[in-house]
Amino acid sequence: MTAAVPDSMLAYRILGWQRPPELVEVPVPVPGSGEALIEVAGCGLCHSDLTMISMPGEIGEALGWTVPFTLGHETAGWVVARGGHSDGVSPAVGDAVAVISTASCGACRWCAAGREALCPDGLVGRGYGRDGGLARFVVAPVRDLVPLGSFDPVLGGPLTDAGATSHHAVRRVARHLVDAPDGGAALVIGAGGLGAFVIQLLRATTDATVVVVERDRGRREVAAELGAHVVIDGVDRSTPRQVRDATDGGVDAVVDLVGSDDTIAAGLRSLAGGGAYAIVGAGGGALPTPAFSALPRETEIFTFQGSDRSDLQAVAALAAQGRLRVDIERFELAEVARAYERLHDGELRGRAVVTPPR
Ligand SMILES: [Zn+2]
Ligand SMILES: [Zn+2]
Repeated sequence: MTAAVPDSMLAYRILGWQRPPELVEVPVPVPGSGEALIEVAGCGLCHSDLTMISMPGEIGEALGWTVPFTLGHETAGWVVARGGHSDGVSPAVGDAVAVISTASCGACRWCAAGREALCPDGLVGRGYGRDGGLARFVVAPVRDLVPLGSFDPVLGGPLTDAGATSHHAVRRVARHLVDAPDGGAALVIGAGGLGAFVIQLLRATTDATVVVVERDRGRREVAAELGAHVVIDGVDRSTPRQVRDATDGGVDAVVDLVGSDDTIAAGLRSLAGGGAYAIVGAGGGALPTPAFSALPRETEIFTFQGSDRSDLQAVAALAAQGRLRVDIERFELAEVARAYERLHDGELRGRAVVTPPR
């Protein structure tokens, strides 16, 4: 953290639709009333950034986005300054914080109920339609800051989206595990960035037996290190039989981080009656037709995007207690285009985190 805040900084910005983003010099933003200026320690890169980078203007404008804006919605860093009307409210200048990724108004009935993922203002946020964290500094409302304690903020960015979204999924399937005899069993399909969090969160917050299906050998090894009880190479026709053999006749919850036709078919056939199926991955897979006879009895299927503030608060607390491992590949801001290429090509081992110069 530096004391002196310069007038300008480099930021990785979408300057026009369907045009490669560029690192350009912009003024350092000034925090307004109730806001704080954050010096970015690290900003994680997300697959959805790739969608934004290639997004046609009609779609971006329909979402309410205006160009230019700075990319990056997985941000953590240090509070360096505060605007008016935020004195005396935690966190203080110097504190390490994660910046909530989900945009929310704080005033609607969903926000009042702590269900910010449903806020009607959620389509435009930092890094998606407004200036995000791929820069040395970012401004955010103080209410969007979650203290990280002694947890390294360079590792904190991935908690805000990958971690919080994973927590949201685990929270929603957890009831089915708690209600199941013997703590239940859960199947995690895909052990990439989100899958690694889902495995750890299932182990940290439930007593479930955790079965992981992953086709990449390196990721299977990571899954075992993170606490998966059973790790299966897949997905293919034999997957449901392998899952049923490894559990007491099927799992009580599936968290599908892929969401393709193949994973949904295999996952549903691995599910016991009364279970839950969380489709997190945007693989575009179809549910079986006719659903009534193809699904196990009393199956709950749900989809979601994003997370609530309480999800980030929960993962940040676990991280601060040393109970979450966050694997990252670190890139300088000058290397951000290469980092996106590696993300696009599926070459990353861990979440790509960009650390701006200071
Ligand atoms: Zn994201
Ligand atoms: Zn709201």
